[in-house]
Amino acid sequence: MDAPVKTAKKPKAEAPSGVKIKKVGIIGAGQMGNGIAHVIALAGYDVAMNDLKKENVEKAIQIIDKNMTRQVSKGIITQADKDPALSRITYAANFEALGDCDMVIEAATEDEAVKRRIFIDLCPKLKKGAILASNTSSISITRLASTTDRAEDFIGMHFMNPVPVMELVELIRGIATEDETFATARAFVDSLGKKTAVSEDFPAFIVNRILLPMINEAVYTLYEGVGTVEAIDKAMKLGAHHPMGPLELADFIGLDTCLSVMQVLYEGLSDSKYRPCPLLVKYVEAGWLGRKTQRGFYDYRGEKPVPTR
Ligand code: NAD
Repeated sequence: MDAPVKTAKKPKAEAPSGVKIKKVGIIGAGQMGNGIAHVIALAGYDVAMNDLKKENVEKAIQIIDKNMTRQVSKGIITQADKDPALSRITYAANFEALGDCDMVIEAATEDEAVKRRIFIDLCPKLKKGAILASNTSSISITRLASTTDRAEDFIGMHFMNPVPVMELVELIRGIATEDETFATARAFVDSLGKKTAVSEDFPAFIVNRILLPMINEAVYTLYEGVGTVEAIDKAMKLGAHHPMGPLELADFIGLDTCLSVMQVLYEGLSDSKYRPCPLLVKYVEAGWLGRKTQRGFYDYRGEKPVPTR
């Protein structure tokens, strides 16, 4: 978490019509939800976080506190940036508590049925004109938008992990997304100090269309015995100058999320080259989801990560 992060001095996003975004709701307080809350609060917005469990939001706020403290110690932000930013993040016990938000960003589990259910339950509670964004890594924005009462105010806003460090946010229009929604979303992302890349609404968009097949191929490389976990990661770090090996990266992303993205690519593009590796399926079925469950291609329970194969 050491990249410079913009602070609360930035102006808040303003749509062409003059509609200001002041309060942002976040649904899903996992690793992406906490990162998104972190940068949004630092940029001066009020944040309300919802999750299935209150403990998940409490844990997310603890992680944000720790990550901001690290940024203070590295001189990236000041204590005077951190304290008000942290106090701007509150817990939303239910969707009613998101009723006064100007924008809600859904960052729940990468499962279309879960996201559809959220939008169906959430929309009646939202105020008119509130923008709805999804942080999905792969699922059709047009299809998700069709489950809402506001397809014209719906947009894909795909943050990268870890959010406080990564520069990019992909923006994806659904078929019905209005220009004004797009302009507001872009101004909002600008106000966070992030850059945008625009992707058409096709499975996994740009970044994951390229990245996830590479990770899946690394799992096949392991599955077919071409290399060990260590050899594969070392080869790509030292041989291709990737900052993390592909299996290390898969553990960091979450193996359940990796598998979901590959399934969306495989089904959405009907091409066998996107077939998820059976070994990836096996790890997910075992509940070995990577760092978030302490075990994936590496075991994180000890002092140092140890390869599990
Ligand atoms: P995660 O497993 O860390 O967190 C998901 C959170 O959503 C959990 O806390 C879970 O309790 C919560 N949740 C599930 N159903 C919910 C519901 N009905 N209401 C409220 N909360 C609910 O997952 P993550 O890695 O944070 O991913 C979240 C989203 O961000 C996914 O769509 C994923 O594809 C996307 N994304 C992930 C990455 C990554 O590197 N992990 C990067 C970019 C985008």
